[in-house]
Amino acid sequence: MLAEPGILGQTDSSHAQEDADSLEDFTSYLSEEIWPTLPQSLRSATHETRDQVPDVDDLPLESTVPPSFIDTLASCGLVSADSDGDHAAVSFLKKALRDYVAEACAPPPMWSKTRTTECEICEREVPLTYHHLIPREVHDKALKKKWHPQAMLNSVAWLCRPCHTAVHHAASNEVLAREFYTVELLLAREDIQKWRKYAAKQRWGVRRG
Ligand SMILES: [Zn+2]
Ligand SMILES: [Zn+2]
Repeated sequence: MLAEPGILGQTDSSHAQEDADSLEDFTSYLSEEIWPTLPQSLRSATHETRDQVPDVDDLPLESTVPPSFIDTLASCGLVSADSDGDHAAVSFLKKALRDYVAEACAPPPMWSKTRTTECEICEREVPLTYHHLIPREVHDKALKKKWHPQAMLNSVAWLCRPCHTAVHHAASNEVLAREFYTVELLLAREDIQKWRKYAAKQRWGVRRG
């Protein structure tokens, strides 16, 4: 999807929430209008396909942008209703698309940057270990069977030792890789929820060893 602030630039921070909502409606309307006219390779851009994503400046946007898009911008006073306006509308769009491509093709966050201070399961501030959400033992298989793109293989969760152990008790590495490869998916499990409630009440050190 088009990055919502991209088309219209920064919004004034003093705008009321109402304005923000209507701006969001407006930009999503514009995005919907433009989205189907874009090449598939651009719409499905990811870090893995970044080499196949066309350069935004090479797209013939001047001829593919629906006139209604330009009209809408013009009727809101964002561009003038003449050929300068057409040009400005395409510039708006190019900027939004460049932002979108940069975001879509960015590598996933490095584990070192996702480091939290609290365990991502029990939320205690205790020493943490990192858990490969797609365990390394099954990386080859995960790639071969296309369970996950390469760039996802190194995503990690920061867990305290007891929670880390609980996760590995909950399922085999293969099942973790296929079905429980995010913290959200892990937390959706009933056994992990039960564990979490229990662990959250434990003082660090009690179960060490
Ligand atoms: Zn924990
Ligand atoms: Zn682990």
